[in-house]
Amino acid sequence: MAKILNIPAADTGPVLEDVELYAAALDALPFGFMLYDEHGTCVYANKRALGLIGLTGCPAEAGMIEAVDRTRAAGPRTEHLRGQGGALYEVAGEPLPIGGANLHAVRIADLTLEDDVMHSQATAASDLVHTLRGPLTALRGYLELSAEEPDLAFDYTQRALGAALRVQQIVDDILSLATFVSAGMEERELCCGDVGAVARQAVTAFEPSGRLIRARIQEPVPPVAMTAAEVRMVLLNFIGNAVKYSEAPAPIDVEVTQEGATVVLAVRDYGPGIEPLKQSLIFRRYHRLGVRGIEGTGLGLAAVRELSLQRGGAVYVESEVGAGSTFFVRVPVKA
Ligand code: ADP
Repeated sequence: MAKILNIPAADTGPVLEDVELYAAALDALPFGFMLYDEHGTCVYANKRALGLIGLTGCPAEAGMIEAVDRTRAAGPRTEHLRGQGGALYEVAGEPLPIGGANLHAVRIADLTLEDDVMHSQATAASDLVHTLRGPLTALRGYLELSAEEPDLAFDYTQRALGAALRVQQIVDDILSLATFVSAGMEERELCCGDVGAVARQAVTAFEPSGRLIRARIQEPVPPVAMTAAEVRMVLLNFIGNAVKYSEAPAPIDVEVTQEGATVVLAVRDYGPGIEPLKQSLIFRRYHRLGVRGIEGTGLGLAAVRELSLQRGGAVYVESEVGAGSTFFVRVPVKA
């Protein structure tokens, strides 16, 4: 972790010289930008990044150093965190091989404005109308057709039922998202005492899918600062996506582990994976990535992100195209 503060390194070779050439442009970027060498040492950080990690006189944003530290290693990865005063940041890292050096780039974007806009009622209302229009039009169309062509009424009614179920799914997703957005105001005991049991139940719920879902729960799991229903909601979302977006006979791995003062819920699939630049988009409402023929609303991961941040946790994904994805939620242990 200390390596993040090691800026700039004394001898960083020709790669950093190149970077210095563009220093003015990099400082003008609307996001924090950092480069790490293969030893995990920071070799460059633009002004915005230095500010966010507390190296320009102002204190670092809460949790930022830890988020950058987690993101500077391994493969492509995106995390979201709430800073002081409710700011929302996206910390995204990915390998950046340039000039023969195996560098790793970390980008810190401030999504606060976008987040505020997302919360505005007008946006939500127009998004809702847009999302519901398709299945409602289909529903109406099939019902009209079944009245016009009684011979085919059964077939059309089945299709109408499919469209009605889709409307219901959208409304359910919106309601669950709304519940988590306003949950911060509710008074209730935020604690799940048996995360292991909730994880096993979530896995069992997917038995009808016929998929091989392997659970590895590192007992004893300490109680966490989330209700059992919330832990279930996170896992059902992640496992549901793994089932939808990967194919049998590839297994799905569900893991619950303790890491310091947090519990990590992880769901890994061996599906198509997600391109690095698209990994941050999927946590935004209604964002779906060209998933033709697979039902969904684009709201599940947004709800998980909202909930995790409210509970002082973090959500992130590690993914490689062609190899699969692992979705993580990190929840604080209940104090
Ligand atoms: P939904 O699944 O209803 O579309 P989500 O918010 O759960 O909505 O996911 C948003 C998008 O992220 C999905 O539409 C899909 O493009 C992508 N996605 C989510 N999980 C996975 C996964 N395990 N593998 C590949 N892509 C995924």
